[in-house]
Amino acid sequence: MSGRSAELAANLARVESRIASACAAAGRDRAEVTLIVVTKTYPVDDVRLLAGLGVRDMAENRDQEAARKAEQTADLPLTWHFVGQLQTNKARSVVRYADHVHSVDRLRLVTALSNAATDRGRRVGCLVQVALDAESGTQGERGGVAPDGVQALADAVAAAPGLRLDGVMTVAPLAGAYAGQPRAAFDRLREISSRLRESHPAASMVSAGMSQDLEEAVAAGATHVRIGTAVLGVRPGLR
Ligand SMILES: *Cc1c(COP(=O)(O)O)cnc(C)c1O
Repeated sequence: MSGRSAELAANLARVESRIASACAAAGRDRAEVTLIVVTKTYPVDDVRLLAGLGVRDMAENRDQEAARKAEQTADLPLTWHFVGQLQTNKARSVVRYADHVHSVDRLRLVTALSNAATDRGRRVGCLVQVALDAESGTQGERGGVAPDGVQALADAVAAAPGLRLDGVMTVAPLAGAYAGQPRAAFDRLREISSRLRESHPAASMVSAGMSQDLEEAVAAGATHVRIGTAVLGVRPGLR
């Protein structure tokens, strides 16, 4: 095992143990939570090493980097998650490799993804990104639709050819009423998810929790945690 592989294995073991403990504390089955490793800024060699260590779910937040890594690892059985803010003009590229887009937050993006997916004969899973700190009718600073806009957007995804409504996603707000309160934020996401599943029962993915707050997310019912730093190390520079 290379030094880097051993390092990633040790980090993965630590994260795995955190997820297992959080599941146990919440009375949840470990199998209810999927670990997605966010490989942004790290080389494709790391994606390969992670795959060798059993990771199947990878995430990226920029199309160019994601497209390149997905292409260079096309021989591996990976599921790609797109988790970054997405311009409509990148929809055509993203539908080529992404199995799930976690950052669907406006109608124009739904239309662009639907057209692109249909043209490629693909079906892409979409999560509505919720900005818990956004005012009614606005977008969050880091993307996301305000809570009162979730239902209409979800209905649009569910009705769009080439798309599948998979669930909801959030990033714990750094400002506003939820700042420093990830558990309350994730509880709110869970409520939004429950309400959504009354009309869309199959939309069961709840994507929440990063390196710093995965325990709170698992406690609040997250089905997918998105972990970068705790597996790969601190990223050089702010992304
Ligand atoms: C980078 C990123 C993550 C991972 O964050 P870490 O703090 O490095 O674990 C999760 N979700 C999104 C949307 C990201 O951009």
